[in-house]
Amino acid sequence: MGQYVAPLRDMQFVMHELLHVEDELKQLPKHAEIDADIINQVLEEGGKFTSQVLFPLNHSGDREGCHHDKATHTVTAPKGFKEAYKQYVEAGWPSLSCDPEFGGQGLPLVINNSFYEMMNSANQAWTMYPGLSHGAYECLHAHGTPEQQALYLPKLVSGEWTGTMCLTESHCGTDLGMLRSKAELQADGSYSITGSKIFISAGEHDMSQNIIHLVLARLPGAPEGSKGISLFLVPKFLPNADGSLGARNPITCGAIEEKMGIHGNSTCQMNLDGATGWLIGSPHKGLNAMFVFMNAARLGVGMQGLGLTEVAYQNALVYAKDRIQMRSLSGIKAPDRPADPIIVHPDVRRMLLTAKAYAEGARAFCSYVALQLDKELNHPDEQVRKDCADEVALLTPVVKAFITDNAWTATSECMQVYGGHGFIAEWGMEQYVRDARINMIYEGTNTIQSLDLLGRKVLMDNGAKLKKFGAKVQAFIEENGADEALSEFITPLADLGDKVSKLTMEIGMKAFQNPDEAGAAAVPYLRVVGHLVYAYFFAQMAKIALAKQDSGDKFYVSKLATARFYFARLLPETAMLIRQARSGSGSLMALDADLF
Ligand SMILES: Cc1cc2nc3c(=O)[nH]c(=O)nc-3n(C[C@H](O)[C@H](O)[C@H](O)COP(=O)(O)OP(=O)(O)OC[C@H]3O[C@@H](n4cnc5c(N)ncnc54)[C@H](O)[C@@H]3O)c2cc1C
Repeated sequence: MGQYVAPLRDMQFVMHELLHVEDELKQLPKHAEIDADIINQVLEEGGKFTSQVLFPLNHSGDREGCHHDKATHTVTAPKGFKEAYKQYVEAGWPSLSCDPEFGGQGLPLVINNSFYEMMNSANQAWTMYPGLSHGAYECLHAHGTPEQQALYLPKLVSGEWTGTMCLTESHCGTDLGMLRSKAELQADGSYSITGSKIFISAGEHDMSQNIIHLVLARLPGAPEGSKGISLFLVPKFLPNADGSLGARNPITCGAIEEKMGIHGNSTCQMNLDGATGWLIGSPHKGLNAMFVFMNAARLGVGMQGLGLTEVAYQNALVYAKDRIQMRSLSGIKAPDRPADPIIVHPDVRRMLLTAKAYAEGARAFCSYVALQLDKELNHPDEQVRKDCADEVALLTPVVKAFITDNAWTATSECMQVYGGHGFIAEWGMEQYVRDARINMIYEGTNTIQSLDLLGRKVLMDNGAKLKKFGAKVQAFIEENGADEALSEFITPLADLGDKVSKLTMEIGMKAFQNPDEAGAAAVPYLRVVGHLVYAYFFAQMAKIALAKQDSGDKFYVSKLATARFYFARLLPETAMLIRQARSGSGSLMALDADLF
């Protein structure tokens, strides 16, 4: 069923030639020993594991789905998932970027990030089981008590136990301030938690020995709304002090959802009937603590979008070279065959290049953000840590929304390359489209990401974070503006930079008068910022490729052509988006709700 080969060459290009990861890591005492060989070795091994172990289970997992036994409340993952997870754990993959104090290998996040791209390309549904564990690890690492960390982190790091995030309830997903699950303090300092959660990914399954649920609930007398939410650690099996498994905790799966995609991942309704849990962080500050998990998960969802874009592209490319149909408009290209391969047709090329450019842009962008995260966590200079934290905060909603929106377009275009065969399950392409759709919805819908970017990350600090990122873009423009060979990239980048500044100011002024103006502009605004980021990275990649295009390595020829396509065909979307963002809220708000 199709193919997946890890794009090692492009990953190495991003790591070593674009971002100079080795030099950057040398400045971080924790990672100073990491060199290019180590990075390449991990990527190569990751490529083998994902293509040989996870990818063969992707289509079968989608077809089979998960099984729920109502009588025992157990969930069984599709055939082969559990065995693949065992291999994953035995090979030490869960611990890659985790803290050595808890059994981790302590490698930088930027490497782990690339591994997650591969896992998501190979099998997004499977990857969500360990992916959520990693978010739980991050949250406990940041906010758990030393006792909680000592008991739970080694098991999450080794992969023996997995994690979940239990936020959503049937009446609230976006507006978590309305949640109703209750927690009551017990004499022994634990809490008894009652409530019902829905849509909990990997909420119940048979892949790990224990499942550690991070649950949002309210304490008695808690303030209304989001200021009254606390976070609790609720294990499926209550662990004994030595980490062995004790009693079954009454947090059980009442049903699993029938859904559009990611069938291999169990989406569970979880019932808590006086389940025992322990507070994480301070009372009523649960959302703050959970944000660590949510931010990790948002970056993770961006990687899901990238992974699907890449694998859809690889398969569509193979198909387009093989499938023959009609003759090229500019003359026969395959005279020995009854028709030309469809890759000769301009519009087939447009579809393929759209996916290629979105994959390569996203890879550069995600790796950059992961590196900034490594610096935020480990740089010895406090100011650098603060600057990196600002950048990560600014760019996280863009990673989540821009990459997943693009993945929806890219997977759909790749399906189109197959013509009618793309719609037929046997070829595997329609699964990528279905799987890609959820990434725009969960972890805060892409609309919510856009509001977060424009409202909290840009307008709330008068554009300070955006200006800091803009200064980097400006420095690149000034450094390279005199180079005529680069003007085809630098001129549109500079033009877009100016437009983003003006647009931000204009929306800020309007939103000051009428907050609906921000809501009306947010979605196109995020896409414009996303394009500014991609234009910045494609201009840098084009610069490297231009210098090396005659080296004999065709990779650079391909990179340059992709950058040119991006600037010619994808970036111009910003003209329309800016018009949309500027058009204001009037046309959206004029109609009375009962006249719709
Ligand atoms: C397969 C799957 C897996 C999931 N996994 C998990 C999980 O592991 N853990 C978990 O806790 N949850 C999970 N979720 C839940 C998911 O995070 C929510 O579905 C999502 O956050 C949206 O919430 P909702 O469905 O309640 O939609 P609603 O909040 O009801 O939103 C409906 C629509 O209104 C829009 N909207 C809402 N408020 C605003 C606003 N202020 N401005 C503009 N538009 C607005 C939304 O963008 C959306 O389009 C999962 C969901 C699915 C389908």
